[in-house]
Amino acid sequence: MTDKTIQELAKSVDSPVEKLLEQVRAAGLPQRKADDVISSDDQEKLAQFNNASGKLGAGKITLKRKTTGTANLADSSGRTKKINVEVRKKQTFVKPDPAQLAADAEAKVKAEAEQKAQVDAKAKQVATEKAQSQKQAEVAENKAKATLDAMRANHGTEAKAEKPKAAVVVKKKSTKVEKPTETEAEKKAREAQAAQLKATEEATRRKAAEEAQQRTLEQMRKMATKYEGSSTPSIKVVDDTPLAAGLVGQAYEDSFEQEDREIKRGGNTGGRGQKKGGRHNQEEQNFNRSSHKRGLKTSQGNKHGFEKPVKKQVYDVEIGSTIVVGDLAQKMAIKVREVIKTLMKMGELVTQNQAIDQDTAVLVVEEMGHNPVLVSDTAAEDNLLEQAEQKRGELSTRPPVVTIMGHVDHGKTSLLDRIRRSKVASGEAGGITQHIGAYHVETEKGIITFLDTPGHAAFTSMRSRGAKATDIVILVVAADDGVMPQTAEAIDHARAAGTPIIVAINKMDKESADPDRVLNELTAKEIVPEQWGGDVPVAKVSAHTGDGIDELLDLILIQSELMELQASSEGAAQGVVIEARVDKGRGAVTSILVQNGTLNIGDLVLAGSSYGRVRAMTDENGNRIKSAGPSIPVEILGLPEAPMAGDEVLVVNDEKKAREVADARSDRERQKRIDRQSAMRLENLMASMGKQDVPTVNVVMRADVRGSLEALSVALTELSTDEVQVRIISSGVGAITESDVILAESSEAVLLGFNVRADTAARQRSDQDGVDIRYYSIIYELIDDVKDAMSGKLAPEHRETILGVAQVREVFRSSKFGAAAGCMVMEGVIHRNKPIRVLRDDVVVFQGELESLRRYKDVVEEVRAGMECGLAVKGYKDIQELDKIEVYDVQTIKRSL
Ligand code: GDP
Repeated sequence: MTDKTIQELAKSVDSPVEKLLEQVRAAGLPQRKADDVISSDDQEKLAQFNNASGKLGAGKITLKRKTTGTANLADSSGRTKKINVEVRKKQTFVKPDPAQLAADAEAKVKAEAEQKAQVDAKAKQVATEKAQSQKQAEVAENKAKATLDAMRANHGTEAKAEKPKAAVVVKKKSTKVEKPTETEAEKKAREAQAAQLKATEEATRRKAAEEAQQRTLEQMRKMATKYEGSSTPSIKVVDDTPLAAGLVGQAYEDSFEQEDREIKRGGNTGGRGQKKGGRHNQEEQNFNRSSHKRGLKTSQGNKHGFEKPVKKQVYDVEIGSTIVVGDLAQKMAIKVREVIKTLMKMGELVTQNQAIDQDTAVLVVEEMGHNPVLVSDTAAEDNLLEQAEQKRGELSTRPPVVTIMGHVDHGKTSLLDRIRRSKVASGEAGGITQHIGAYHVETEKGIITFLDTPGHAAFTSMRSRGAKATDIVILVVAADDGVMPQTAEAIDHARAAGTPIIVAINKMDKESADPDRVLNELTAKEIVPEQWGGDVPVAKVSAHTGDGIDELLDLILIQSELMELQASSEGAAQGVVIEARVDKGRGAVTSILVQNGTLNIGDLVLAGSSYGRVRAMTDENGNRIKSAGPSIPVEILGLPEAPMAGDEVLVVNDEKKAREVADARSDRERQKRIDRQSAMRLENLMASMGKQDVPTVNVVMRADVRGSLEALSVALTELSTDEVQVRIISSGVGAITESDVILAESSEAVLLGFNVRADTAARQRSDQDGVDIRYYSIIYELIDDVKDAMSGKLAPEHRETILGVAQVREVFRSSKFGAAAGCMVMEGVIHRNKPIRVLRDDVVVFQGELESLRRYKDVVEEVRAGMECGLAVKGYKDIQELDKIEVYDVQTIKRSL
């Protein structure tokens, strides 16, 4: 072997120069360029290095070992936690190619021989070198033999190796390994390789260490070292750094091969995702615990956070005044049929859409083992009202709200008109107030608000809704007429509402006025005037002359003082709907009587089941105003639909709450409607079971305002009797439309308009179909007409009148008639063509008609009392002496109610 340049050497070994330079560098030799000279020594080192490193990968055996342990770690809060640590180790053994090894050994021997020849002259040096070579060969051989033996002992199949040279791949820095003696080239090659591996390892570790908690790592490393302590010298721990995902983070985790490590965390450790992981682990533990209790096997694969409830859930079930069965079941989280079954056991047969009352619902809930919680249906509203009340300021006296009532034509409108000193009702026919409205009058002594109602019916319906808007009732009685039926009705209504009465005896200007008679009649109705020792104030007035009006106003104000009527003008307005209608151009127009607080433009108003912002506000005279305090009536625009007269009004801040309450109210209304309908259906069923055909007067009705419509509806419905019923097929506010005409025609209904007219299309349709539309402006006329219609529907009465009675004195046999009787007419007149009955001892034995009636030989039409006659009964031959022949008549009488 001679000195050569790298290029020459590359050429002689048939390898690219670059590759050879790389090998030279890897072997730790100084040559870096193609021209550099590589000595024969260096060539040998390179050959040895290549021999050593070139065999890597052949005959490789990898052994893995897994150990587990527990580490106690203190977290930032100082608490100690246990962490399960699993360390996996991988060891790789490499078996060199035997042929190559043999060739290497031969080359080596040859080289040694050459070397020996070359250094013959320097005997001492040669002797030393020789000794070194021999020793090295011996140690290597011994070492290889020992390793081979060990391998043979552990893995029988590995024993085939003839002369393994080395088995170590990488070194564990913390493990002290007894190293075999190496040649210089081997040492350098190993060091270079180790340095390279070490560099990679260090880089990875640095990256990991940045994210790891140093203390924990050290502790874990110690543990790893401890486990490594048991390794044999030839075993190299590939990775000695255990990982905890929760401790060192993802970056660290990513820097190592996944299969080489796994840390199972038994406790809740710090780090990213701690909360989630912790909860999950907790759930997992719970699950495991509960499964364990039940003796169930769980595996990693089907673990989940759901724990089947083993204990029955007890719910708090909220129950209003009524609850639908389906809803009740839902609140208890059970099937509807369970609830229905329970109800059946209790003797109630219901369907899931039916509502049951609170008491029954409570029993069901208790039976089912849940907790009934009674709640008010109006909880949300009560809450709103309460909130409004809390914001009220100081109370001060408020004007009284007064309603004038009395019999028709006793002067209610005239009186109100006189008080208002205006001509509002001048054109009104019949003396009934037609529109619901309210007016406030400023007298010298104070303000009085008058509520103008369309009669008692509206008063009743307003009262029935609980809207007690009226403080005082003025009972108008005409001095010349006295107490009349509607006077008595008004008294009943006022009493029922618990409203104090002030009597106004009107028409005192009339000559026929007799106030004492009026007082007498009132006393008979238990309305005892103050001057007679009672408690009812009485004013004698004349709407025409104005006499006594001031006295009446005084009495009203005194009464109101006694009642200590109070309200606050502060806070959200609260009131009552007096009237509501839908105007074509303006939408819903609502009259409101403010009862408390102040109503302002822009306020969010909740009225019945509708809510909206006040867009415009006018007083009773049509003047635009911006706000209204207690007892002031106003008309507002801005509600999306017309509420009902008597609906409560409240100003709210929160639109969401307004919607909530409005929805709850419309739900309640709907429920009521359903109840009513089903009740009606039941009634109808019962009625048809009893009587096959109850004549019914169907009514389709339109009115100008809702108040009148309600009053009319109530009045008409009350007309129904067992024999004839009034059924309002349809009713509404506004003009009569074509669809009303069609409906009236198809349902054979009478079509009535109260203060409204039919539109053009409806008029044409009614002409075409021959449907009669009737218009009214007086409630009582309309009611009377419906009564007439009902009379027409009443079955006519058949009234029987006995016209005459004759007694049989003698019976003749007649060839023509079979039997003929000679009679004496005892009473009345016997008519030939009228129906007869034959009575024997006052019992009817035959009913029919006469065949002939004669007086002597003459056929006559009638025979009067006291005369004799001969007669024959058609189809009856068994006539006897002393029988009575009764002649009678049936009259069909049209009845009225
Ligand atoms: P209402 O039906 O109760 O509203 O009665 P009205 O106010 O329409 O009056 C009925 C009739 O009585 C009308 O013709 C009035 O002119 C008349 N009237 C009302 N008040 C008085 C009064 O004080 N004196 C006289 N002489 N007639 C009156």
